[in-house]
Amino acid sequence: MCDCIFCKIIAGEIPSTIVYEDADCIAIRDINPQAPTHVLVIPRAHYANLTEAAAADPALVGRLMRACTEVAKREGVSEDGYRVVTNIGVNGAQSVQHLHLHVLGGVKLTERMA
Ligand code: 5GP
Ligand code: ZN
Repeated sequence: MCDCIFCKIIAGEIPSTIVYEDADCIAIRDINPQAPTHVLVIPRAHYANLTEAAAADPALVGRLMRACTEVAKREGVSEDGYRVVTNIGVNGAQSVQHLHLHVLGGVKLTERMA
């Protein structure tokens, strides 16, 4: 078993607030929100980042993007607009090495957030 915080959240070993889930992913509230809505869409399968996931299972990436749109609708930010971000590697300032998509909304976003 890998020592990955998001794998532990998916396994229920670390508590989180789940706002959406399906066969591919869970969506949880970020512990340190950068906007009124800040949800992380996390695939159940462990991939280090988007580059790895896109190479191994590109169809999954599409389904994760769709899950982000579903989260935005449920959070009530779909009409006003929102942002989907994934950070990759050192220059992307990725801090958790398990692919996740940030869904940010509820405010007019300006510069880099999450
Ligand atoms: P990254 O910097 O890798 O793109 O984003 C990692 C995100 O995970 C950060 O926004 C951080 O606040 C969030 N995070 C880290 N640990 C936890 C945790 O244990 N629970 C939740 N809900 N979010 C976490
Ligand atoms: Zn993991």
